[in-house]
This record gives sequence, structure tokens and C-alpha cells, in this order.
Amino acid sequence: MTFEELGLSPNTLRAIDEAGYTTPTPIQAGAIPKVFQGQDVLGIAQTGTGKTASFTLPMIDILSRGRAKARMPRSLIIEPTRELAAQVAENFEKYGKYHRLSMALLIGGVSFGDQDKKLMQGVDVLIATPGRLLDQYDRGKILMSGVQLLVIDEADRMLDMGFIPDIERIFKMTPFTRQTLFFSATMPAEIQRIVDTFLHNPAKVETEREASAATTVSQFLLSLPSNDAKTKRAKLREIIQNEALKNAILFCNRKRDVDVVAKSLSRHGISAAPIHGDLNQSIRTETLERFKTGDLRILVASDVAARGLDIPAVSHVINFDVPFHAEDYVHRIGRTGRAGRTGISITMSTPIDHKALASVVEMLGHPIPPYGESQVSASAPTTTEAPTKPSRQRPVRKRKTSKPEITAKPVVVPTPEKPVKPKASATKPPADTPFGTHVPNFFSED
Ligand code: AMP
Repeated sequence: MTFEELGLSPNTLRAIDEAGYTTPTPIQAGAIPKVFQGQDVLGIAQTGTGKTASFTLPMIDILSRGRAKARMPRSLIIEPTRELAAQVAENFEKYGKYHRLSMALLIGGVSFGDQDKKLMQGVDVLIATPGRLLDQYDRGKILMSGVQLLVIDEADRMLDMGFIPDIERIFKMTPFTRQTLFFSATMPAEIQRIVDTFLHNPAKVETEREASAATTVSQFLLSLPSNDAKTKRAKLREIIQNEALKNAILFCNRKRDVDVVAKSLSRHGISAAPIHGDLNQSIRTETLERFKTGDLRILVASDVAARGLDIPAVSHVINFDVPFHAEDYVHRIGRTGRAGRTGISITMSTPIDHKALASVVEMLGHPIPPYGESQVSASAPTTTEAPTKPSRQRPVRKRKTSKPEITAKPVVVPTPEKPVKPKASATKPPADTPFGTHVPNFFSED
């Protein structure tokens, strides 16, 4: 299957070519023809499968016919977080560079005034988080009657974040005749109910959950005998110092800990900064940029803020806590080992994490190999046992070379399939992109 065979326009094909993509990913091959046929689509796919392009590419061609009217967006894309919304905006810029479509973002942290001006002019594509969209709607700033295409992305995450009532409201506000493209990595009962209620005979496109052979993450577990936060932070510094760690995303379960850990690392001279939902948008964007460019070594993140972020070269993921939801473990460690690279994940676990750890181990179907005992200082002895019985003893990781030496067999985990990018994502849009006046500068940075 080629992109030409999917029925995309020459201008879109040119942009895809410049992005360096040669072959459609499975979700793209499955969804794009259905979108062109006008069918509703239910895409069961995780981030990393190329799902964003599976809706943005056909939307660009569909929306290139017709014009936007003031306050009446022609299409609406709902994302759970600002970062994902910004990422989708980047996709529209990249793939829509040879079209003249207008786009606006309605996300927290961007001033109402700017957003309102864009909406007033009329937009082809409106990308929004649910709360901000409903705010603007309730203020009478947007009319939904022109929405022909509605995209709900990361629906299961919306469920986790309590957005389902908002999503139902958004469905009811948009015309019955709209086409709906609905994406979710998993299908819990509540999501299935939404699909059954609001989608019309959707084409179901499901991608493999299994990792591609290229996506390997070596996972390790460091079990600590005490819950003491100070000891835990000291162990964390040891890990950072011992590992040949180019950069890392470090996850904490709580926003408060994100701040504390980032501050503590900085105080110890380790380049680190926090990212979570309570931080001002411009700070979040700046922090992400610094991390992407290599200026910042450790991004300390909450699950929500880091969900779906596409940062190709992350050498390590460190879980400062075991995530409350087992599926977040897969999302977290999937931040490394992307784009054909290998990656290392190290999960720290204390007695309070044992329940959460048991469900991660159950989900994986095998214990997580212990992180090398020799790294751990004698002052606080550690255990390396997962709470469920390991099926067999795994080798311990040895120390200490300039490169991380992995003696435990890398475990291929069900991280999302990652299409290999032949060239770096390339082609920054020119300053006068088709969306030039509609997009805050930081969104056009690649
Ligand atoms: P997504 O699942 O939308 O987050 O996409 C994951 C990554 O795959 C992004 O960096 C895209 O730029 C990249 N990508 C999307 N489609 C393709 C493709 N057909 N070939 C190669 N890379 C792709």
C-alpha cells in the first residue's frame, strides 16, 4: 500500500514526501480510505502508531474544498491535553503546508483575545481541549452548526481525566450529520457506550498492540525497602550518576512530587525541570523545547502532561513511583525506545507501590528484571523482588561502564508500534505557513 493509493491529493503527497514518510502505517492504510468515503471511524490505536496523520491527512484534503465562515469551525478536534493539541497543530502545519487552511487552537494558557480573533475570522480546523472549548461555546463565541468533521482523540484518556460528560455535550452540540473519527487506545465499557451512542455504523480500524521488533525497551526494577522520600531521592541521584544517561523522562504519580523531585535534582546540580498541568502553558512549552533541543537533561513529568509526547530520542525513562494504572506503565516506558532506537526504563518501587507493581507485573505477564544490586549503596539495602512470584531468576545488571551494559535480556513490551522515520521529521514550515497568522510561534517549532 502506498500513500498515492490512499487517494491523497498531490499537495498532501508532496508534504508527506518532505516529512520523509514512504509507507502508510497500518492505522493510516486502514482509516484514510474510510475517512474519504465519509464513514465514521473507530480507531483503536495508541500514540506512536501514526494515528494523528491518519485523521489529519484526509481532513486536509476534505477541508481544502470549501470555505470557513465566521465563528463556525468546519472541523473540530478534541484532545485531552494542551500538549497533544499543540502536537496535532504541528501535524496540520507539516502536512498542510501546501494548502491554505486556517486553524485555531483553543487551549488553556493561550489568551482568550487571540483565540477569539481567529475564531471570528472563521477557521477550517479548530483544535481544542474540552474545557476551553465549552467555555468559549458558553460565552457564545463559537457556533457548532458548521462542524462537518469531529475528531475525538485519546478517548480513554479523556475518560481517566473525567471529560466524558464534556465529550457527550460536544457530541450533542455538533450536527447529527457530522462525520466522527474516534480514537482510543483501549475500549473500556464507558467508551464503548459513547461509541454506540454517537457514532453511526463506524468502520473499526484496529492496530496491533504488540511492539514492532525494532521497539525494544530494557526494563529494570529497583525495589527499595522503605518509603522514605529522602532516601528515594538519593537513590535516584545514584541511578542518574551511574547510568550513561543522555536524557530521561522521569515520572512521578503526583504533581507535588514532580515539583519536589525536579527542585531536588536541580539543587544537586543535575539539569532537571518539571512539567505538569498546574504550570503555566508558556513554561510548559519552553521546558519541552529545552528538553527536545538537549538543553535540559531530565524532564520530570506527570502522566497527563507527558502523555503522547513525541520526543524521538529519549535514552531513559525513570519511574520515580510505580504508576497507579498499569496501562500508564506502558505509556511511560513507551517514551523511550522510539523510532527504532533502544531504550532503558528503570522503575523505583517502595512498599507503598506494591499493589500497583503487582498489577503492572500481571499486565506484562512477567516480572521486571531487577536493577543491578551493585549500583545501590550499602546504606540502604534493597530487595529486587517483584511482589508477585517471579517465574524464574533473571540475571542482575552489572556495573559500571561508560555505556549501560545490559546483561538482562531486553524485554519487548507492548509499547505502541513505531513507524521508522527515514529522515528526521524534517521540513520546518516556512515562516509564512498557511497557518502563519493563526498559530502561536512556539507551535511551529519542530
Ligand atoms: P503518532 O502516533 O501520530 O503520535 O505518530 C508517531 C510518529 O510517527 C510521529 O513522529 C509521526 O511524525 C511519525 N509518522 C506518522 N506517520 C508516519 C509514516 N507513515 N512513516 C513514518 N513515520 C510516520
